[in-house]
Amino acid sequence: MKGLSVLKKRNGFAGIYVHFPYCIHKCSYCDFFSIGIGKSVVTNQTELFEAYKSEIRLRIEENLDFSDYSIDSIYFGGGTPSLAETKLLGSFLSFLYKNFKIMSDAEISIEANPENVDREFLNDIHLLGFNRINVGIQSFQEGILKYLDRYYDSQKYSHILSLLENSPFDRTGIDLIYGIPGQTLDLFYQDVDTALKSNIEHLSIYGLTVEENTPYQKLLTQKKILPPNEEMQKQVLLELPKKLESSGFFQYEVSNYSKKGGQSIHNLKYWTLEHYIGIGPGAHGYTKKGRYSNEKSIPKYFQKQFQNVYEPFQAEDISLTLFRIFLPIEIESFLNIIPEKKSAIKSKLYEWEKQGHCSLNEEIFCWNPKSVLFLDDFIFQLACL
Ligand code: SF4
Repeated sequence: MKGLSVLKKRNGFAGIYVHFPYCIHKCSYCDFFSIGIGKSVVTNQTELFEAYKSEIRLRIEENLDFSDYSIDSIYFGGGTPSLAETKLLGSFLSFLYKNFKIMSDAEISIEANPENVDREFLNDIHLLGFNRINVGIQSFQEGILKYLDRYYDSQKYSHILSLLENSPFDRTGIDLIYGIPGQTLDLFYQDVDTALKSNIEHLSIYGLTVEENTPYQKLLTQKKILPPNEEMQKQVLLELPKKLESSGFFQYEVSNYSKKGGQSIHNLKYWTLEHYIGIGPGAHGYTKKGRYSNEKSIPKYFQKQFQNVYEPFQAEDISLTLFRIFLPIEIESFLNIIPEKKSAIKSKLYEWEKQGHCSLNEEIFCWNPKSVLFLDDFIFQLACL
């Protein structure tokens, strides 16, 4: 097992996710629910934040126990929540503090895109109480971003890391993508090295995938664009953890790396099946009543058509989320949630341990590094047990 001695247990704290459904430009590969609106201001923001408040009131009514939870993370994602007006973000945060027990050291995160980030924005949102920011950079290479049909502002991209470094935020991270056609291994590692020269504490590094009903998928079907470079992706999956470890970054989930103590508390909630209220059009939530997903429609959201059907918890949810984690896991406490599957899953893990895919000692489970290449298949097998 590697240097990070963190054993993940459920901590029993809950989170809040807020989905902001607008971006400057819709990227061709993206299947998150978001609308490209160009450089214009989001005109109906006040209405959107009022609808968020209505949804929060409804969720509290439907999940009465939620007001008893201690909340240790609030996450504004999207879309591009850095397009939201800071005064609306501030008044909405105050609303959340009035309605929930939010812990004094809660992680309050926001996703941002380089084009919205400047010194004033960083200072303002830090003053509002945000203590973590993650910037969707994807690549520092203009040609690569253009291939993905991503908005690019050369001035912003060249300054973004020094802006973060000189901001009041101690907790900063960026996203990068690899396996883009035309992106050589060298070009990708140049991006990684650029990131490593800064003082960020978190890296989300994703392989490009083809998502259903995206423009990228349509262009691919019409043979107008090339598919993701899978050979390169395999090589990166095997090489990257070691490379990053030598710079003090540890892989804690298949696509996420952080310096010690810098893991995203919020994202770990999804993988360890903690409860969270998700609000906004297209947002998902998971409470004691079960899972729900709001419709991906802004007009319906403004008409307060929030999803009120909660799908009961399924045993396979544990396999689909927990086994994406690359930390040593105290497996017993998680398998106790699904006693009916516990012995089948443990037998499978012992079988894989003998075959060298993982270690399982004294109830502490950890994937071996090479298993990352077969992770989807392993997870599928566990989910089918
Ligand atoms: S900026 Fe992010 S959320 Fe918006 S379309 Fe691009 S990838 Fe999707």
